[in-house]
Amino acid sequence: MSQFRFSRRPDIGDKIRVSFEFFPPKTDEMEARLWETVKRLEPLRPNFVSVTYGAGGSTRERTARTVARILGETSLSPAAHLTCIDASREEADNVIRQFASLGITRFVALRGDPAAGAGTRYQPHPDGYANGAEMVGALKRHGDFDISVSAYPEKHPESPDFATDIDMLKRKVDNGATRAITQFFFDNDIYERYVERVRRAGIYIPIVPGILPVHNIAQVASFSGRAGAHVPAWLRERFEGLESDPQTHALVASAVAAEQVLDLVERGVGDFHFYTMNRSDLAFAVCHMIGIRSHKPEASPNSAAA
Ligand code: FAD
Repeated sequence: MSQFRFSRRPDIGDKIRVSFEFFPPKTDEMEARLWETVKRLEPLRPNFVSVTYGAGGSTRERTARTVARILGETSLSPAAHLTCIDASREEADNVIRQFASLGITRFVALRGDPAAGAGTRYQPHPDGYANGAEMVGALKRHGDFDISVSAYPEKHPESPDFATDIDMLKRKVDNGATRAITQFFFDNDIYERYVERVRRAGIYIPIVPGILPVHNIAQVASFSGRAGAHVPAWLRERFEGLESDPQTHALVASAVAAEQVLDLVERGVGDFHFYTMNRSDLAFAVCHMIGIRSHKPEASPNSAAA
């Protein structure tokens, strides 16, 4: 019996599956950092990695390039995020066909936020898909894809109540979603209560917790409200006074994320999605804590998603 609350059971790492989220880089410097991150995380053999799609489709070409490069140069199975905001059905269908022609078979289907940013008024395109559920339907009409969707343990800020929110999730599942990935959260009781509500609504797909290692507490605090997640006071307190001490900030952040993930493992959760912010250190450290170890990368490049 370990003196620690969360002692690593030797078999845990074999049962846990992780995925990592990246955003498409804007500059050569950011691109170099992303590839360092991808190369560092690749040997952990994630279930898949995903690449986000900028507000209003602003990163369409960069998302496609990044996903295609992951597919061509690594052993990883990439998923492309796609949003339907500001696009007609025809335009959205063209994007789906473009991505499918690159060999992409995994998608994260979303409505997206208005180009002016999260929290600004959403207006569906008059001829477009209106929400995440319709986007799932569109993808399914184009192929038998693996489709992840969003889920909100603290409910989406635009949803009037949980019932409306979970009804949208149900529609996504009815249209063919494979799994849901949650918005980040820091209180595991909230996640557990949400999963109970979802199951009571007859939704049985995996609800994969989205874990955000806190690279910058000030940034997280400023966008959390618009994202539909709250930052508890105890979390802010943990980072108090560390604004100009990045090393200690990172140590605390990895302890916080590891504590959260280990507690979820204790509660029986086996899949985790890490919002990496294109950095490997915290995600790598937390994976190590849950028993996930590096394997030698596969010799041959990926040719098709698993
Ligand atoms: P939906 O699932 O369509 O809707 C979310 C909720 O909002 C629903 O539960 C519904 O009840 C409510 N709702 C939707 N429309 C309305 C309406 N008109 N009136 C009232 N309620 C409404 N954003 C990006 O731009 N690019 C990304 O790559 C990206 N990746 C993401 C990945 C994950 C895992 C998550 C959780 C979020 C991601 N987002 C991304 C953010 C997301 O686009 C925003 O949260 C957006 O506001 C909602 O998109 P959605 O697909 O979740 O919407």
